[in-house]
Amino acid sequence: MIKLYADYHTHTVYSHGTGNIMDNVIAARKKGLTEIAITDHGIRHFAYGVRLKDIAKMRDEIDRINDNAEGIKVLLGMECNIISTDGDIDMNDGIRKYLDILLVGFHMMVVPKTVKDFLNIYGRNYISKIFHSNMEGIEKINTESMIKAIRKHKIDIITHPGTRIPLDTTLVAKEAYRAGTALEINSHSSFMKAEHVIAAAREGVKFVIDSDAHSPDNVGNLQNGLNIAIEAGLTSEQIINAVK
Ligand SMILES: [Zn+2]
Ligand SMILES: [Zn+2]
Repeated sequence: MIKLYADYHTHTVYSHGTGNIMDNVIAARKKGLTEIAITDHGIRHFAYGVRLKDIAKMRDEIDRINDNAEGIKVLLGMECNIISTDGDIDMNDGIRKYLDILLVGFHMMVVPKTVKDFLNIYGRNYISKIFHSNMEGIEKINTESMIKAIRKHKIDIITHPGTRIPLDTTLVAKEAYRAGTALEINSHSSFMKAEHVIAAAREGVKFVIDSDAHSPDNVGNLQNGLNIAIEAGLTSEQIINAVK
């Protein structure tokens, strides 16, 4: 039986979640988790990105909770965005020093590094969505951008691979395995069905099952992801947030 002890992907009011940090922590404890990460959207997420001035404040808040809360460890992370076809993400050393964990995912509402990057990633993805055209070409660009990001940055988790933007999960899994990056089975919106998980698992990559909660009552709701993992035949050893 697979038992999960952590939820490494939750949002708060610092991006577009409804709860504050403490609300998410209390919810995680209620669900019996012993670790939770607060991972609001990267700074270039249009409208929802964390404001720079809030990052130190979030760190302080979490340090205080960790000093006082028993039985649960709180991590500060961020769900960063890919902002160029060279694998750049909306992260810098000034922000990174505050974080315990780094998540990266594709989101549509992002301010890219350059206009060319905008057209290459987001423009093409928008157009292919509207016209259902050139999906292969766009998948190739997305996959290459993601692989470059994995090579360039020390990423802990790739969030919802394949959701919102088409991605070759097997190729991403290969690179993620090399880098020690986990692929997320997202309980909220997973493109990764059992077949994709099985294909990715063949590359040796590890997985993580997260809630991607945007409200405290969804924190620790991991059952959807767990069902996919079980269907794919994963063991606790292959899941980084499972009790070994
Ligand atoms: Zn996301
Ligand atoms: Zn998220």
